[in-house]
Amino acid sequence: MANLSDMSLKILEVMKQHPDGITEGEIREKLKIPPAEQANFGRRRRELNYLHLIEKVQDGPRVLYVYKGPRTKPRDTSQINIRLRAQALHAARGRCGNCGRTIEKHGIVLVVDHKVPREWGGETVPDNLWAICEDCNAGKKNYFKSVDADWMRKVMAHKSVHVRLGETLKAFKGEAVPAATLEFVANQDDWKKRIRELRYLGWEIETFNRKLSEGGRVSSYYQLVKSRPWPEDPTGIIRQYERDRAERNKADD
Ligand SMILES: [Zn+2]
Repeated sequence: MANLSDMSLKILEVMKQHPDGITEGEIREKLKIPPAEQANFGRRRRELNYLHLIEKVQDGPRVLYVYKGPRTKPRDTSQINIRLRAQALHAARGRCGNCGRTIEKHGIVLVVDHKVPREWGGETVPDNLWAICEDCNAGKKNYFKSVDADWMRKVMAHKSVHVRLGETLKAFKGEAVPAATLEFVANQDDWKKRIRELRYLGWEIETFNRKLSEGGRVSSYYQLVKSRPWPEDPTGIIRQYERDRAERNKADD
């Protein structure tokens, strides 16, 4: 279950081959990463931190990554420091990232929160922090309480985006899951399409909008109606299904 994405594994391999450390630029060069994947490189490298201990060492102007071995305990992330907190609050511009209410109009108080909880392996990095109002924060804590954090940590590290999304929906046991949670679990722009593709495997998922609070904006939610056991290679089967359909469409023309 605890699989990492293919790119993460390749990055890990290169780090292991260079026990004295290697820079990010050198890793990119060795892996000859296609331009389309370049943007994901940083995330893929950080993803390794869930399961592996990797030290960052300053060597003159160079930053080296040194592989230290697998983690025996789940990552213990630090508190959100002042700089990260200020950064997230600045980016919010007085508006709750979840419900959209503002300090000025609705008198809300903003708190800085992890989008993906730390217990799931969510990191204390700008990408995973947002400013939300106290109401949303309380609601979210309540919401995530029912979800098994150990299981979610494994789900987050799975290489198939379809398995990550499907297992997250299952983990909420029929409760509606906020779009923001699924977006982060998918870790890609096309995440809505990936959810729709689960239909090819016989899954049924409903989507609906909900207003979180008076004056807030409408947020979308996803709810699992029916799930199916995973085949050997879910993402591969979905890709094959799409290729077959494209062929059929061509034949119909
Ligand atoms: Zn809010």
